[in-house]
Amino acid sequence: MEHTTNAQPVFDTRGFRHALGRFASGITVLTVHHDGRPHGMTVNSFVSVSLDPPLILVSLDNRSFMHRVLPGVGRFGISVLAQNQDALSNHFAGRIAPDLHIRFISRDGVPLLEGAAAYFIARVEDAHRAGDHTLYISRVEHFEWNDERPLLFYGGQYRHIAGEKGQPVPYAQDDYSLFSIGSFDPPVR
Ligand SMILES: Cc1cc2nc3c(=O)[nH]c(=O)nc-3n(C[C@H](O)[C@H](O)[C@H](O)COP(=O)(O)OP(=O)(O)OC[C@H]3O[C@@H](n4cnc5c(N)ncnc54)[C@H](O)[C@@H]3O)c2cc1C
Repeated sequence: MEHTTNAQPVFDTRGFRHALGRFASGITVLTVHHDGRPHGMTVNSFVSVSLDPPLILVSLDNRSFMHRVLPGVGRFGISVLAQNQDALSNHFAGRIAPDLHIRFISRDGVPLLEGAAAYFIARVEDAHRAGDHTLYISRVEHFEWNDERPLLFYGGQYRHIAGEKGQPVPYAQDDYSLFSIGSFDPPVR
C-alpha cells in the first residue's frame, strides 16, 4: 500500500498486477454453445477446487460477454491449451487473428478446441460475485487428457516447459491432500 501526501492510502494496482504475474499458470479457453454457435474466451483463472465431488472454478470479469451468457447456458467446456496454441489464446482474448484456423470439436453438445492438452466439461453449480469478477464453481461431468505439453503464462508472457524431467515433490505422508492435483500419487498406507 502506498500513501498520498494527505495520508489517503492508494492501492498500487500496477504493482498488484506485477505481483500476481509472478504466479505461473496454464491457459484455458472456456467454450459454450450459445445462439446456435460456439463462443470462446481465454481464461487462466481455472482452479481445481474439490476431488469429491469433482469441482473446478473460473473467475470471469463482470464486463465479459461470457459472464452474461454462462448462467443461462449452464454447461461449458474447458480446453487446456497446448504449447503451440498461443495464437488461440490471443484470439479468444480479443486479439482477432483473421487467418487463424479454429477447429472446434464437440463432446455431448459442448464445444471444445481441437489439439488441446486436456478437456473438461462442467456444469455451473454456484456463482459468487467477488469484486469486479464472478467466481463460477462448477461440477466436472467429463474430462480427457493427453501427452501434449501445456502452454504456460508467467510475467505476462507465454512460456514453454523447458527440460525433459521435472523434480519430484517432497512431502510428509500426512500432507498428500495438499498435492491432490494432477498425477501426484498419494502414498500407499
Ligand atoms: C492469458 C490470458 C488469460 C485471461 N484470463 C482471464 C480470466 O481468467 N478471466 C477473465 O475474465 N478474463 C481473462 N482474460 C481476458 C479475456 O480473455 C478477454 O477479456 C476476452 O475477450 C473476454 O471474452 P468475452 O466473453 O467478453 O467475449 P469476446 O471478447 O466477444 O470474445 C473473445 C474473442 O473470441 C472470439 N470468438 C469467440 N467465439 C468465437 C468463435 N466461435 N469463432 C471465432 N472467434 C470467436 C471473439 O471474436 C473475440 O475476439 C484473459 C486473457 C489472457 C490473454
